[in-house]
Amino acid sequence: MSFTLSALPYAYDALEGVIDKETMQIHHDKHHQTYVDKLNAALEGEAVLVGVSLEDLLLNLEAKVPQAKQSAVRNHAGGHHNHSLFWEIMTPGGSNVPTGDLAIAINNLSGDFANFKTSFAEKAASQFGSGWAWLVKKADASVEIISLPNQDSPLLQGLTPLMGLDVWEHAYYLKYQNRRPEYIAAWWQVLNWDKVAENYAK
Ligand code: MN
Repeated sequence: MSFTLSALPYAYDALEGVIDKETMQIHHDKHHQTYVDKLNAALEGEAVLVGVSLEDLLLNLEAKVPQAKQSAVRNHAGGHHNHSLFWEIMTPGGSNVPTGDLAIAINNLSGDFANFKTSFAEKAASQFGSGWAWLVKKADASVEIISLPNQDSPLLQGLTPLMGLDVWEHAYYLKYQNRRPEYIAAWWQVLNWDKVAENYAK
């Protein structure tokens, strides 16, 4: 049994205006596929890891994965999990604001939604080099904004990822070139808060 790449939940051009079709095609079909392929390659021959879920691999990396494979699994299980979540929390037209308990948790963190957006955008803009900005849920159900390098998953720290913004150059360079802040500012338009609230409620 190996991991497989799911199709996007919308057309490649569905987020045009914010993320262009060519970027979506390359990002999903090439970059994400490569994380899946390299994860499967890393797990090949590791009988003890057969049937272990993606989340389990990341939550228990050091306990369950042989040391020689930890780096590859960290990068490629992380890449697979991060991108799977990324596609799901976007939707054509977006949905405007957080709702329910998630909205309360965000207000507890940032005071109001406008402040939250500013803080998240700053975190995403200031991640040096490749990485992601994350909204995560902690064990006490509070939320936090963090950034992590490379394909490190919040699950490595026992944090539940609710939404993540990919700020690797492959995510935006064709349309925005060096203007990462413009990409970040536009991204809110396609963010699916209903899905993020669902992740929080889990
Ligand atoms: Mn990416």
